[in-house]
Amino acid sequence: MFQRDYLPYPFCNKGIIEILIKPFGLSAKRTSCRADRSTSWHCPGCGKLKEENEKKWKEKGIIFFKRIKLKMEVKIIRIKAKRAFTPTKLPGANYVLNQYVGCQHACKYCYAKFMCKWHAYGKWGSWVVVKENFPELVKGRRVAGRVYMSSVSDPYQPVEREILLTRKILEKMDKKTRLSILTKSDLVLRDIDLFKEFGDIEVGLTINDFDGRVKKEIEPFSPPKERRIRALKELSENGIKTYAFISPIIPELVDVEELINETKSFADFYWFEFLNLRASGREFREWLKENYAESYETLVRRTEFEKYVKSVRYAIKNSRVHVKGICIHYPELAKPLFPDVNNACRSASADVVR
Ligand code: SF4
Repeated sequence: MFQRDYLPYPFCNKGIIEILIKPFGLSAKRTSCRADRSTSWHCPGCGKLKEENEKKWKEKGIIFFKRIKLKMEVKIIRIKAKRAFTPTKLPGANYVLNQYVGCQHACKYCYAKFMCKWHAYGKWGSWVVVKENFPELVKGRRVAGRVYMSSVSDPYQPVEREILLTRKILEKMDKKTRLSILTKSDLVLRDIDLFKEFGDIEVGLTINDFDGRVKKEIEPFSPPKERRIRALKELSENGIKTYAFISPIIPELVDVEELINETKSFADFYWFEFLNLRASGREFREWLKENYAESYETLVRRTEFEKYVKSVRYAIKNSRVHVKGICIHYPELAKPLFPDVNNACRSASADVVR
């Protein structure tokens, strides 16, 4: 059985012996493939590419695993908060619940990076503030309207595996709360038993197309797309209402139509969000300009951008999926381009985080 925090990592017999006598995983040779810009692994025993060995092992019904280690040290700051539910103007929500501030996923374009101004603990992704009294704060409290978890962090970032704060909150929370959870991690599957106790809950996975070198550079520590899609499917199979949050939509890098096709048989509804270039920060803008100049130009030139949005709108309309909202961060374009969508996003600033 495939353990979720492990990746298949097959070697030949000689390779395994080599790995047993050397520190785990360190002896594998890594090469960069220019053609698809991804990274390939060579078995230290036979020198074959990972894929070739993988096939061999699969035929024998054996899978090997390598623990994915975060190569980033994370500072944990434990605090006590005064309140848990914060009123919000985020589309589709009335309150937000931010039990964590800061996120180990460390996405380069993250709109929540602005939190570093108030929490000077270092680079975004290197620290997480843990509001450890949140379970007591939510206990016995019910708020009117929908509660969104979370806007300045991921409730299922790696640290949650040990701290279990999100799980403890769900245990104590009034099960009549109308809850909406959004994450990039398949760790969310751990809490299916608790989701089933809620009367009105929707669980979303952020899905995009980043892989290979791009993923490593802009979303280095979140699970890959395939695991997120699998998680969405498993949630749906367990009777949980699910949604796919297709974000951030970037010309050339994200194929919206393909993502819809990959998820529409188990996603109950969709949110779409075009990249908010301004909120993504200077570092990301420079990266995009340097590596994907055409994408950057499309995003900064109004007529080009309008054309691009129209083509995406066409793909969304044709797919006939249930759309709850589209955020384009271009207020003057939102209404005319999406007259039939209630939550065509208004603000040009960071009004949707993640
Ligand atoms: S975009 Fe989401 S998952 Fe990525 S760092 Fe920001 S809060 Fe975390």
